[in-house]
Amino acid sequence: MLSADFGKLKKEVELINHSQADWFHLDVMDGVFVPNITFGFQIIKVIKKYAQKPLDVHLMIVQPERYLEKFKEAGADILSIHYEASTHLHRSIHAIKDLGMQAGVVLNPHTHVSVLEDTISDLDLVLLMSVNPGFGGQKFVENTYHKITQLKELIIRKNARTLIEIDGGVTLDNAPKLVTAGADVLVAGNTVFSSDNPIHTIELLKESSSLYSA
Ligand code: ZN
Repeated sequence: MLSADFGKLKKEVELINHSQADWFHLDVMDGVFVPNITFGFQIIKVIKKYAQKPLDVHLMIVQPERYLEKFKEAGADILSIHYEASTHLHRSIHAIKDLGMQAGVVLNPHTHVSVLEDTISDLDLVLLMSVNPGFGGQKFVENTYHKITQLKELIIRKNARTLIEIDGGVTLDNAPKLVTAGADVLVAGNTVFSSDNPIHTIELLKESSSLYSA
């Protein structure tokens, strides 16, 4: 939703309601964990008011454990926190689940998937950053394909049911390749909202990947 026009937020939310997208993906940035600042509870509440699909909230903030309950109240259905921002990751994952949300962990491009060895079975979702978060217009990190393969191996080995989500630089070109590598969920912001026909672009993304897109 970060790529949406916030001057007509209700209309943008309704557009996604009527599209084939499965989730709303919301990027919350605090200006500390990442250089950029985006939006917080108020905007999430507005989106929740009109959204007819789950809100997938991606926290790019330090000490995310301080705000889990507030994000639940604002309307998050799926809440993902960064591995790099969480000192007590296991505790936070369970706190998210105890609040009735699905729990996700996000890995920056430099973080190896093996850090999830002891938590993967508890996770509904792992989000792999395919660009460095917080900067606009960055190049897709090609090593993402390799990380998807490694993560898929870990999930299978641990008999987990975790979904693999990819965030950053997803296009119509690389979407099929990401799904073939093992991705279950693709986040597409710019690709969708900067296109002339967002509904059709989402359709094309779904066709090319025949899985989830948000
Ligand atoms: Zn995101």
